[in-house]
Amino acid sequence: MQSIVIVGAGECGVRAAFALREAGFEGSVTLIGAETVLPYERPPLSKDIQAPPKLIRSLSDYADAGIDLRLGLRVVALDAVAHQVQLDDGTVISFDQLLLATGARARLFPGMEGCLTLRSDADMRRIAQHLIPGARIGIIGGGFIGLELAATARAAGAEVSVIEAAPRLLGRAIPAEIASVVHGLHAQKGVRLLTSTDVVQANATQITLGDGTELDFDAVIAGVGAVPNTEIAQEAGLHVENGIVVDAGLRTSARDIFAAGDCCNIDWRATRMRFESWKIAQDQGAHAAAVLMGGDASYAKVPWFWSDQYDLTLQVAGVFDLTRPIHRRETQSGTCIVVQCDRDGRLSAAAGIGPGNATAKDLRVLEKLIEREMSVDPAVLVDPALNLKALLK
Ligand code: FAD
Repeated sequence: MQSIVIVGAGECGVRAAFALREAGFEGSVTLIGAETVLPYERPPLSKDIQAPPKLIRSLSDYADAGIDLRLGLRVVALDAVAHQVQLDDGTVISFDQLLLATGARARLFPGMEGCLTLRSDADMRRIAQHLIPGARIGIIGGGFIGLELAATARAAGAEVSVIEAAPRLLGRAIPAEIASVVHGLHAQKGVRLLTSTDVVQANATQITLGDGTELDFDAVIAGVGAVPNTEIAQEAGLHVENGIVVDAGLRTSARDIFAAGDCCNIDWRATRMRFESWKIAQDQGAHAAAVLMGGDASYAKVPWFWSDQYDLTLQVAGVFDLTRPIHRRETQSGTCIVVQCDRDGRLSAAAGIGPGNATAKDLRVLEKLIEREMSVDPAVLVDPALNLKALLK
């Protein structure tokens, strides 16, 4: 009987396990997760601190699907030649094929030890204790996690400061036109936003800025990015470079070993990237299942990401090159859509922000156009008179 082992019981690993069964895989599927709780969705962690964990599947679903779910166990070693993994309780499990879906963990820069971070349900419960009316919350990092937490903390009545080293929020991947909407809303909601401001040291209750200023808080949370969990792959000799390097079929450099989700580094239109996105983790999990069953298709889904802050939803399809021109499509007031074409004139990225689902329909169309690698004049795309859907015909 064929045996497939999946390391990491997060969004991607769980999706892969069920997709294997949905596709009729009859061998053994072992899903190993270091966390002790049933696999849950991470996106709500920064958005809704009151809600209980949103489980990806119920316990009985795993049993019904014949998935051997082993929680609270960490894979500590991988032998890529002998086709074996070793768990932290000493157990050794053999596999015919392995999927590494180990995700990522919150980054902490030296000098920030002692700050809270957010990656897991346990982290969220620690943070939630501090999000009470009047509490002074310092957030290091004006990226998605920091800003979603800022919105959540404000909703809980806390006084919030966000400290960002770059000149603007969301500077890593999001166009300035969209980031300025986000900035405006946080400022309007009373968040103190310090951009172009370096943090040289931080602990549980104090942040020291580059100019020596010391800011006191009731809690300090660092949202300064994530580090892929690649140690077992690296020690096993797999090619690792900002994630576990995979080919278009999610294969690593080792025979019979695949990687997917936040831990992997994959090519997107000739550029190597590592994504941190719920939908990509799901899509790659499903794709991994197909290749584990012998499929040879390339993974080519358009990257897609969303963020909720206050009543605003931001959606991004494709990948922006922030060094190249970006075009703004005029939309109804309160929403903003931007698009970008690559050097060959093909639509390569789009983002929209607005209340609730206000830009969702347009973004879905733009995502399809990106998927089709449609060549299009940006001046046409941004014309408010254009019905975007017409381009799909
Ligand atoms: P993970 O979900 O990180 O799962 C990996 C699992 O593997 C973990 O449980 C880990 O403990 C386990 N593991 C690691 N190493 C081992 C080992 N050696 N042995 C056993 N188990 C191991 N994306 C969006 O698109 N939109 C959002 O709004 C959004 N919000 C987010 C909010 C928060 C707070 C966070 C943290 C993420 C958010 N994301 C969002 C990103 C999204 O949740 C991730 O991209 C997705 O969870 C990645 O899934 P994954 O399975 O690759 O990794």
